[in-house]
Amino acid sequence: MDSLLERLRAAGAKPVHERRVLVNWLGGRALDARHSRGDAALPAPLAREIPAIAAELDLVASVDSVHPGDDASERLLVRLAGGRSIETVRLPSSSLCVSTQVGCAVGCAFCMTGREGLVRNLTSAEIVAQVVLARRRGPVKRVVFMGMGEPAHNLDSVLEAIDALVTWGGIGRKNLVISTVGDRRLFARLKDRAVKPAVALSLHTTNATRRRELLPRAPAVDPDELVAMAEEYALASGIPTQYQWTLLAGINDGDDELQGIERLLTGRYGVLNFIPWNRIEGVPYERPSIERMRFLSQWLHQRGILAKLRRSAGQDVDGACGQLRARKLVAT
Ligand code: SF4
Repeated sequence: MDSLLERLRAAGAKPVHERRVLVNWLGGRALDARHSRGDAALPAPLAREIPAIAAELDLVASVDSVHPGDDASERLLVRLAGGRSIETVRLPSSSLCVSTQVGCAVGCAFCMTGREGLVRNLTSAEIVAQVVLARRRGPVKRVVFMGMGEPAHNLDSVLEAIDALVTWGGIGRKNLVISTVGDRRLFARLKDRAVKPAVALSLHTTNATRRRELLPRAPAVDPDELVAMAEEYALASGIPTQYQWTLLAGINDGDDELQGIERLLTGRYGVLNFIPWNRIEGVPYERPSIERMRFLSQWLHQRGILAKLRRSAGQDVDGACGQLRARKLVAT
């Protein structure tokens, strides 16, 4: 975002003009659109530069293809300058799932994105541009940083994007959700910030050995410590933690995990989201039966732990993150 601000200032923009242009961009409108009565008129040199700046911003990210789902979700394959592509998913209820990296270094055993490793970090403008592209197609009121990549590995850009979405994008901090596998540096940085977003922690298991197998290159932090860090941040931010749990039959749906969840999450300020795994060709996992998944949630409910069985939106358009892009890479 810094280079965009510099570009605007070089063209003569004062803070009021920056605000008008950026509020328009993040709103998915023409940069010089008249959005409200109080809009400051743009100085002539800036007004002359607007078409060139708009053309430059259009190159930051553009929609390559659109894949609608049956559940009102819509998966966008987004092309970045330089030819790389990422995925952005418009979800029902005006939510958007954005990517933060091309590829990912964590290498989760059940994820396509992790298979090729990290290619590069996205810039803050590339993250924000995903919201811009989505808003040209419909409203976006909530942004989850849950697409390709581990936000904690690209934290400077993610935090800059969050500040831009709050300042110019009109999105409240509680509607900005950083999804992470858990990282001490992430919680340390978030704790000191004025704008504290929500956090979704990808827990997946309460067993430290199993977690290392499922998330081989995640920071070596045991589930007990992860939950303790998340709890401290949830209390400081006033936003409950969303614990994410991809359900894999025979791997992390056993009674041992129920007991582990009861031990770790009883009395915590958070909610557990069970996400049934989406089948990926060539990956040997299965989702548990619907009866088992219901039993897991009910068992936890009876012990006072809020556990929700989520449907992963977009699963009929190759739901697990990275599948569209992987298919395109295979096809080209
Ligand atoms: S699930 Fe998320 S953290 Fe894990 S490899 Fe995929 S993108 Fe990375």
